Amino acid sequence: MTQFHDFLAVESIEASYGQAAPALRGVSLTVAEGSIVALLGSNGAGKSTTLRAISNLLGPQRGALRGGSIRWRGESTAALDPADLVQQGIVQVLEGRHVFGQLTVEENLRTGGFLRRPSRRQLADDLERVYAWFPRLRDRRSAKAGLTSGGEQQMVAIGRALMTRPTLVLLDEPSMGLAPIIVGEIFEIIRRLNREEGVSFLLAEQSANLVLAYADRAYVLESGRVVEAGLAADLATSGRLGEIYLGGAATATRH
Ligand code: ATP
Repeated sequence: MTQFHDFLAVESIEASYGQAAPALRGVSLTVAEGSIVALLGSNGAGKSTTLRAISNLLGPQRGALRGGSIRWRGESTAALDPADLVQQGIVQVLEGRHVFGQLTVEENLRTGGFLRRPSRRQLADDLERVYAWFPRLRDRRSAKAGLTSGGEQQMVAIGRALMTRPTLVLLDEPSMGLAPIIVGEIFEIIRRLNREEGVSFLLAEQSANLVLAYADRAYVLESGRVVEAGLAADLATSGRLGEIYLGGAATATRH
């Protein structure tokens, strides 16, 4: 059985943007192989910054890691760029459903495959695999991505990440701006990818109640610090979330 620290181990990381006050102040977390971990917290708590730190995407935002360490399968990721990390199995799906609006759904998916320099046959297999997970995308394969619904765009963004054949997907607020029924559909697919293909997920989310139903463990961030961590099922029932963070879902369940 793989140990936690043999997969993803984030230890006491500090991060900031330019001269601004630190966005992360000693965040530690682990993702065990084969698990779904939720990263919760309200707006500005540091969720996106944590994901960017893991995938080495702070630089393009003029941010930097100022302390602590991140190890992937026991090795420091400090010298790896985002493309190296993708090659090693870590891929991030950015917040806000980034798709190439002028390209078709299928062309968007293909862009995710190129990094591995696949043969035409492999690319076709990978596309089939993504369409099997997201049948809606097969129906919409020739549509311009910019003209598809918000839910379909999120599926394209996730599908493009899956084209890299990742072992760990960092997913930033997949539910943002989507109707609950679509969010449920997306989370069901995430659960199946986890159970049937062993893909691990670190899911940043503001709305706690839904994601806790799918996660194994959860961490709660507040002002750049981890203020709560534990089994998702325990956190969901403890009532602690409502006390420590007033994210939409946590407050909504109080009424
Ligand atoms: P959100 O749901 O709004 O994305 P979050 O929990 O992901 O919230 P972060 O985006 O990580 O939080 O923000 C943490 C802190 O860093 C906030 O104070 C935010 O203003 C700041 N911050 C985030 N991105 C940048 C950036 N690109 N440049 C400067 N400051 C930033």
